Amino acid sequence: MTTQTTETSSPMDQREDLLVVKDLKKHFRIDRKTVLKAVDGISFSIKKGETLGLVGESGCGKSTVGRTLTRIYEPTAGEVGFGGANIGGRIDRATKRRLNHDMQMIFQDPYSSLNPRMTVAEIVSEGLVIHNPDMKQKERDKRVQELLELVGLNKSHAGRYPHEFSGGQRQRIGIARALAVEPKFIVADEPIAALDVSIQAQIVNLLKELQKDRGLTYLFIAHDLSMVKYISDRIAVMYLGKIVELAESEALYEKPLHPYTQALLSAIPLPDPEKERTREQIILTGDVPSPTDVPSGCRFRTRCPFAMDSCAVIDPEFREVEPGRQVACHLYDPEVMAKEGKEVTVR
Ligand code: SF4
Repeated sequence: MTTQTTETSSPMDQREDLLVVKDLKKHFRIDRKTVLKAVDGISFSIKKGETLGLVGESGCGKSTVGRTLTRIYEPTAGEVGFGGANIGGRIDRATKRRLNHDMQMIFQDPYSSLNPRMTVAEIVSEGLVIHNPDMKQKERDKRVQELLELVGLNKSHAGRYPHEFSGGQRQRIGIARALAVEPKFIVADEPIAALDVSIQAQIVNLLKELQKDRGLTYLFIAHDLSMVKYISDRIAVMYLGKIVELAESEALYEKPLHPYTQALLSAIPLPDPEKERTREQIILTGDVPSPTDVPSGCRFRTRCPFAMDSCAVIDPEFREVEPGRQVACHLYDPEVMAKEGKEVTVR
């Protein structure tokens, strides 16, 4: 089986890598004969201060990526480098503790991710209690107040309980909790999916501001491409456990190369009614196959409008097709296209 190779970043971006992932896999054994390949060999890197958007339909494995990087799940295989240290295999207790400090998660559902029996102050200060046990209560209270103000709440909220807040406010509490220990890297797992559209923009703007002020690095997971554009420097598109395209955000929106990316983008309504009326929409047929029974060759072939004979037998390599852009599709592979008697055409 072809594995994904590490992408080459844009020559424009010379920042240092914070996270480097090589051929990461997370498989779950369901029973003696069945293995669910949630993440099946993905490679990417994220630079310090960068936001990588990770997009795909529900069940494509994107949340499993976030949970595997933060070691909620143990990886099945692959390498993960973080700040120069290898954290992909077995890690000792001290490394786990350091990761729990340096990597934080913001969860999708602000309704269930906060303990209803804890006050906001207790929720936000949980990490401080663990990682700064010597911090005095007074100091901790002051820090909680600062954090609440930082995320657009106020200090009077500290003594209240999660049910007293709206969805957007609860997500702000979740962000304050993640920031409390001053992490380097945040996995935001669909942090806006459960919120009203008007609130979504506020949370995205807040995350952007915090990133600018604190040099944070984000993996921003989302199930559609509409909002992710506004926060991501680059976007990786995932399908059935693999990344099928990775590019700078603008380039991806301007000229999506993978047929799956094209289909996802064509489902987003355009603000210009004239363009919306005349554009070509790609409607995907069929259901997403089960990750316990992945199709041979290209895993997208059962739904791809451009599938060729080679697609059923050769797993497309995730390769750079232009600077800063990688795609896993035979349409951009001169060798496979020659075998098919066709020419490579960039759509
Ligand atoms: Fe479609 Fe073939 Fe490209 Fe897969 S490799 S996306 S099936 S054209």
